[in-house]
Amino acid sequence: MSKGNINVSVENIFPLIKKFLYSDHEIFLRELISNATDATTKLKHLISIGEAKVEYGNPQIEIKINKDTNTLHIIDQGLGMTAEEVEKYINQIAFSGAEEFLEKYKDDKNETGVIGHFGLGFYSAFMVADKVEIITKSFKDEKAAHWTCDGSPEYTLVEHDKSDRGTEIVLHIAEDSKEFLEDHKITGLLTKYNRFNQIPIKFGTKEESLPLPEDAAEDATPEKVTVDNIINNTNPAWTKKPSDLEDEDYKNFYRELYPMQFEESLFHIHLNVDYPFNLTGILYFPKLSQNLDMQKDKIQLYQNQVFVTDNVEGIVPDFLQMLKGVIDSPDIPLNVSRSYLQADGAVKKISGYITKKVADKLSSLFKNNREDFEAKWNDIKVIIEYGMLSEEKFFDKAKKFALYPSVEDKFYTFEELKEKTKDAQTDKDGNHIILYAANKDAQHSYIQDAKAKGYEVLLLDSPIVSHLMQKLETTEEKVKFTRVDADHIDNLIKKDDTVISKLSDEEKEQLKPMIEENVPKETYTVQLEAMDSDASPFLITVPEFMRRMKEMSATGGGGMMGMGNLPEM
Ligand code: ADP
Ligand code: MG
Repeated sequence: MSKGNINVSVENIFPLIKKFLYSDHEIFLRELISNATDATTKLKHLISIGEAKVEYGNPQIEIKINKDTNTLHIIDQGLGMTAEEVEKYINQIAFSGAEEFLEKYKDDKNETGVIGHFGLGFYSAFMVADKVEIITKSFKDEKAAHWTCDGSPEYTLVEHDKSDRGTEIVLHIAEDSKEFLEDHKITGLLTKYNRFNQIPIKFGTKEESLPLPEDAAEDATPEKVTVDNIINNTNPAWTKKPSDLEDEDYKNFYRELYPMQFEESLFHIHLNVDYPFNLTGILYFPKLSQNLDMQKDKIQLYQNQVFVTDNVEGIVPDFLQMLKGVIDSPDIPLNVSRSYLQADGAVKKISGYITKKVADKLSSLFKNNREDFEAKWNDIKVIIEYGMLSEEKFFDKAKKFALYPSVEDKFYTFEELKEKTKDAQTDKDGNHIILYAANKDAQHSYIQDAKAKGYEVLLLDSPIVSHLMQKLETTEEKVKFTRVDADHIDNLIKKDDTVISKLSDEEKEQLKPMIEENVPKETYTVQLEAMDSDASPFLITVPEFMRRMKEMSATGGGGMMGMGNLPEM
């Protein structure tokens, strides 16, 4: 028997740990399962290079609850530890790692930016347990070791008669953490963090019906068998090669990821890079859905198939946070604050890579099947327009595939639009005027009028398109967007065959002052020349700049906004 003092300088760091991670006690299970997974994959590696001469078998990780003893058990069949290794890896390394961590972050406790999901490793067991045991037998065929620590810096280390290889961690669950002895709580955690774990995880057993034999009677009941309840899929789609996957596989994975989501996605993007950083994943463009639950389905960040967080702020560019799916990278530093994350070089590269992949995918969809792309436009436009406004690089690429639908549902790229309208729609200063409506019904008569004059009218009704128009006006030479009900539509150089008002000059003379009396002159312009429709003998227009001013003040000065508060139009 050996007894010892864990060499830590902070007098007693256990209570500190407990307090420090107050909101995130649950991650202890993820940490211990990660260690069990590491121990198993390390053994596999040692066998493959001939350093361990044992059978690998079909190792599992088992989670067990014992309500009689108030204990939770995490059992693996990995490489195990000798007594010396326990001294070294647990007493020295694990503990010094935790101490260093606390030293570094103890003042950040209240910084909202600290990711709540970092790992403290083995040490996090003490967030929920007041006593922890390690019973472990190394593959090196030595005696098993039994380490016990009751939450003070003192520990004991004795021999144990465990005969099979691997490690069992026993947590004596503390009074205030009894919830972790409930099946449904543990099931919830396993599903949240470990449903794609690399090594199978067993939690209890379940009944399964055997398939009925072909000649079974109609009322035959299938035979039931008891099988291990394996909670995870060890080979999720994103870990596979894109060339090994069919469209159907991607669809199935979407369903697997979001079982409560019944709407299919529009398309997917498989991410796969190993230089200069490691990143795999699958992103999905969702159908814009009324279903509010959809908002809860976020992109999930994994590290080596272990869930870390679904807050990917800073890692995935803002405009892509409405996408769904998974990214997995060992290269994203987790135990750091958000502000640090945003400045981190690797993370910036990751964000840039994701943007590029998304742009490339959209571009190839546009080129390969324009019809399909147009059909999806309504669902994806907000994301693309937002991206064009917030990321210069994305803007440059998206300019070639972003679409501008006409009121008659024809879709133009910006270049096509310019080409189409360049002859008919210039004003006397040589500005290229692009006409649009924001609402087909409300602006119906203006649209009719413009069409009658041979102009092309776009239907731009997405909530942020007005910001995009402004951007295009500043980046494109002599391009101006004008709403159909704006006054300077009349400044356009008219073609000869435009329809002329049905009113005689005399009628106009009489009518104009009558209308002007009733509408405020400083905000509206009355036009009598332009109309051809019997239903609308005259037009009241708003100067374009006036309307935009109003819109801008309604949307907070027109600055770029977070996805959460898109302006309403
Ligand atoms: P990390 O996993 O980051 O190395 P931990 O504090 O989680 O830090 O674990 C410390 C060390 O303890 C591990 O590196 C490993 O050597 C050892 N260890 C922990 N759990 C196990 C286990 N289940 N089997 C074998 N070794 C383990
Ligand atoms: Mg660990």
